[in-house]
Amino acid sequence: MQGNIYPLCYHCGKIPELGLYDGFRIRGKFFCSSCEQAIVTMETGTQEYQDTLACIRKAIFEGMSRVKVIGL
Ligand SMILES: [Zn+2]
Repeated sequence: MQGNIYPLCYHCGKIPELGLYDGFRIRGKFFCSSCEQAIVTMETGTQEYQDTLACIRKAIFEGMSRVKVIGL
């Protein structure tokens, strides 16, 4: 539909083929289903895996920075 705002994948920067629900979110950051597939089938220990992991961590920590943390 025109006028709808589709999420851009935080990892690959693309609009998900099947729209809004074609993927998952981590703390409001959208990851498309093709990246999800790539992540679950990725070999651990590869550069690609490390990069993807870094991207996901960033998504998580960016989300957390919005929460005010009251230290002890
Ligand atoms: Zn993606």
